[in-house]
Amino acid sequence: MVWWQLVNNAEIAAISSTTALQRERISVSVLKFGGTSVKNLARIQHVAEIVRDRLTAGAKILVVVSAMGDTTDYLLKLGSQCAKSPDRRELDSLLSTGEQISITLLAMTLQELGIRSRSFTASQIGIFTEKVHSKARIVDINSANLNRALEHNDVLVVAGFQGVTADGDITTLGRGGSDTTACALAAAIGADVCDIYTDVDGIYTADPNVIAEARLLKRVSYGEVIEMARLGAQVLHPRAVELARQYKVRMRVRNTFKPDHEGTVIDEGDGENMEIYRSISGVAVDKDQSCVTIMNVPDKPGIAGRIMQALAENNIVIDMIMQAFHPTAGHNNITFTVHVSDLDQTIKTLESIKDDLDASSVISDPDIAKVSLIGAGLAGQSGIAATIFNSFGAAGINIKMIATSEMKLTCVVSAADADRASKIMHSSFGEEE
Ligand code: ADP
Ligand code: ASP
Ligand code: MG
Repeated sequence: MVWWQLVNNAEIAAISSTTALQRERISVSVLKFGGTSVKNLARIQHVAEIVRDRLTAGAKILVVVSAMGDTTDYLLKLGSQCAKSPDRRELDSLLSTGEQISITLLAMTLQELGIRSRSFTASQIGIFTEKVHSKARIVDINSANLNRALEHNDVLVVAGFQGVTADGDITTLGRGGSDTTACALAAAIGADVCDIYTDVDGIYTADPNVIAEARLLKRVSYGEVIEMARLGAQVLHPRAVELARQYKVRMRVRNTFKPDHEGTVIDEGDGENMEIYRSISGVAVDKDQSCVTIMNVPDKPGIAGRIMQALAENNIVIDMIMQAFHPTAGHNNITFTVHVSDLDQTIKTLESIKDDLDASSVISDPDIAKVSLIGAGLAGQSGIAATIFNSFGAAGINIKMIATSEMKLTCVVSAADADRASKIMHSSFGEEE
């Protein structure tokens, strides 16, 4: 795969062919329940009751569920005990079994409540993806199948996180990908709303389980949440929100354990007060990052391109690319960040081209974290950066890399400093909202 294919999001391009098939008469809501919400049978019963209470006469519900509790982590561990670097096709088949358990248990529980309900895997319903294991993007959804199944049932329970290739292989969408399944289904079926039920009240200005002062945001724009999610706010899978924005899916994040709480609404933002809506949205931390440097590559045209091409061909997405120039030696060091799950493959890829490029070595650091401030009002505000860098300095936190854009300020720090750095960043933008 080359870079322009990565930029041209297949997920977004393909679903457009199916959105036309919308249900005109019947209202459909998509409700997604994450791993903690279906952790055990008592919670599955609770979820079934929420679904029952949401079911109104004539309306239909499409439920998307994750695997129970930490099942996906457990399955990953099992796989890694069989092979040092498990085959990704086999790993995807293994991981998809987690969601297959939870859909069947929820469908049975709903049936016990007298609700016409059936479970479906991605293969059964037809959630087609590209043939890329462990981070496949959705290319098509068989909405005719969905519509047919909805005619015979009031609630469909669909497995999140998984897909199927045109030739029948099972794929997965990447960790946290059930949110993306939910939004893709909502887009394909023209749902009224896509409610993401989780274990917190909604989207906060920072992870409420790390920063007690984090404030609940009643309403956020797609753009703000996409940045927060891309930069590590685990509460939503970034691709889910990208899909929701593209197809104008109304999204809410709600608490499974407080079903009457209204949660956070995600929409296009405040059209009336566009420029003064909110300058800072929050802080996000991504601890699943690592940093890689290819040392002493010759300072001549074409080198950076060859490095990026080799990584793109292996479906490795990198970020925060930096080049440090040594004027006397005529060499550069090129450093970037990459998700830890791609670190081994990244090192292998760079080692395989190192001699050809005439580079001296490849070094990496898996113990880093990205800490980011996100907000539409960050552009041109050098004072904010000064405040944060000074506070980090006073706290003895060393900044390894810095990147800025119109909507974010990201610092790479050592993993051990991540929580402290995020608290400092959060307290430095005050009580806005
Ligand atoms: P689920 O299993 O329901 O998909 P996740 O664990 O993926 O749940 O996401 C919910 C968690 O996201 C919360 O428990 C919280 O710790 C974390 N989180 C990180 N950043 C935020 C944020 N800005 N707002 C709310 N939750 C956040
Ligand atoms: N079960 C998968 C995971 O743990 C997908 C999800 O929960 O969204 O990443
Ligand atoms: Mg999640």
